[in-house]
Amino acid sequence: MIYFDHNATTPLLPAARQAWLDAAARFIGNPSSPHRLGARADAALHVAREQLAGFLGCDALDLVWTSGATESSSTVFHHLARGAAADATVWVSAIEHPCVLAAARHYFPNRVRLIPVTRGGVVELDWLRMALKKSRPALVAVMAANNETGVLQPWREVLELCRAAGVPFFCDAVQWIGKLPAHGLGGCDFVSGCAHKFGGPRGTGFLKCPARGPFHPLLLGGPQEEGRRAGTENVPGVLSMLAALAAREAALPAEKLAKPRATFEKKLPAILPGVEILGAGEARLWNTVSALMPEADCRRRWVVKLDKLGFAVSTGSACASGQEESSHVLAAMGHTPAEAARVLRFSSGWVTTAADWNALAQALRQVHAG
Ligand code: PLP
Repeated sequence: MIYFDHNATTPLLPAARQAWLDAAARFIGNPSSPHRLGARADAALHVAREQLAGFLGCDALDLVWTSGATESSSTVFHHLARGAAADATVWVSAIEHPCVLAAARHYFPNRVRLIPVTRGGVVELDWLRMALKKSRPALVAVMAANNETGVLQPWREVLELCRAAGVPFFCDAVQWIGKLPAHGLGGCDFVSGCAHKFGGPRGTGFLKCPARGPFHPLLLGGPQEEGRRAGTENVPGVLSMLAALAAREAALPAEKLAKPRATFEKKLPAILPGVEILGAGEARLWNTVSALMPEADCRRRWVVKLDKLGFAVSTGSACASGQEESSHVLAAMGHTPAEAARVLRFSSGWVTTAADWNALAQALRQVHAG
């Protein structure tokens, strides 16, 4: 099976697997325990925190280990809602992952403003610039790279606008980290990431949040993580995540990885006349192709047929692959539900070869020919 669904999740890197096994054997104590075995586990977490802080460019004290990006997102909105005025609003890009949109709507009911995107799937900076002149939300949330289209978002510019306006900025960097250098993301007030999108284990992630000032934790019942996230830390998971990230960062920048994707995209119109690649004119992750397929046919048919030919592809959104709900991302980009229902996503990985992309092109040709 050739795996073209890396935006949903990625296989565990051998280095990450080894790090998990080593940590599980070496750090048997609870990091909160007062004995030396506890202290040793705590020291390992400290080293990992320093390492992640180095990659992101922030203070290690600002980092909190979580179970993943979904928990990190809920933590951000929970924290802000507890400290915000009753009429405070949050501004969230219309193409955020559901874990951001749903948390925003839950904690700020009827007080969420959607930041529009262009037809190419890029957040409208001018809209944000103008809106910030008129009012100040409790938070602006814009992701670093979109999971459905791979389109990169101008998070550095959003950060600057937010800084100038004195508004906290939350960046969901799940799809960016491991595929592009993480450095600089630590400048955002809040940043979320999860290990399983870059070769680390599932159920492990982090939140970068300000270490100073009061924090309203989502999970209660323990003093861990300086009171910002209760619960025994997942030491093997964290060490495995850092092993994966270190391996990815060492191999970046990854321009050469974009070449086979570019060749594939060039071939595609001849194979599937009328196909449209979403966000084609924009800067995108090197691994993602979001294709509006030519036929008015169910995209599930494509997924099933490609699966039979040995290719794992997706109908779109990372976590919801297989669900047939219309994509809010494609709607925000101006696509009709009928068009959204024809979109397939191919997302390669770090070891996907030109031959794999070529084989996918051949399989598409075969399915198209019926
Ligand atoms: N944010 C983005 C952009 C994602 O793609 C995902 C997962 O698909 C998440 C957040 C949620 O990550 P997790 O399910 O690991 O909590």
